Amino acid sequence: MTDMTTPRQAAPRQGLLIILSSPSGAGKSTLSRRLMAWDETLRFSVSATTRAPRAGEVDGEHYHFMTRDGFGQLIATDQMLEHAEVFGNYYGSPRGPVEMAMAQGRDTLFDIDWQGGQQIRNSPLGAAVVSIFILPPSIAELESRLRARAQDSEEVIAKRMRESMNEISHWAEYDYVLVNEDLDQAEAQLITIIQAERARRSRQPWLNGFTRGLQQEFTLRGTS
Ligand code: GDP
Ligand code: ADP
Repeated sequence: MTDMTTPRQAAPRQGLLIILSSPSGAGKSTLSRRLMAWDETLRFSVSATTRAPRAGEVDGEHYHFMTRDGFGQLIATDQMLEHAEVFGNYYGSPRGPVEMAMAQGRDTLFDIDWQGGQQIRNSPLGAAVVSIFILPPSIAELESRLRARAQDSEEVIAKRMRESMNEISHWAEYDYVLVNEDLDQAEAQLITIIQAERARRSRQPWLNGFTRGLQQEFTLRGTS
């Protein structure tokens, strides 16, 4: 990838916290995977969860699968940046890897629900948040995507459909909203958003020194 918005200067910009939320089945995981393939410097925040692994899910890669006791321990020791109960299970974002990525100027991608989005936005790290809500083109399409994924029982699908309108009701809390109708188009929109956010003046404190250098160079040329 050639990214014109990544500074070559020694002082990196602060890492962004890119939050993707949507009702279950709208395409967050698929779009996250595409973004990770687009930019290898992005770091995916691997959540901890008490839900059972789905077929093909790898512990430590898709989620850190754990018991309720183990999850409770992480909360008690303040190791969770945010956490919430979703569909009867606990989910949370481990704090350590996020703070490390930010310090290195690396952007972190979160696939979390509206509750987690609110908690990070309202935390001391809120200024680094770029939040994006993904809508399905229709409720019928949402249901058929949940079925096409063929990963959940009828009961779980019904529960996720019942919850979908609650998740959708939080769309207006997000900085950006897109409809995932065509996957390629939705991916292109996400890339555009990330590139624009990286180029924001406020995200690039290194520009102060850089523009001073340009001024000095200009002055020196003028006297030569
Ligand atoms: P899927 O999103 O339908 O594939 O189902 P999952 O069981 O993987 O996730 C269920 C919901 O939990 C989704 O809305 C996720 O975005 C959300 N979720 C996943 N990880 C976290 C987390 O660390 N914190 C919070 N607050 N929500 C999470
Ligand atoms: P989420 O992580 O939001 O629950 P997924 O990424 O698992 O959603 O997507 C649910 C299903 O819908 C998957 O089978 C995925 O391949 C499919 N899907 C995602 N986006 C699209 C799209 N734009 N068009 C058609 N199918 C899609």
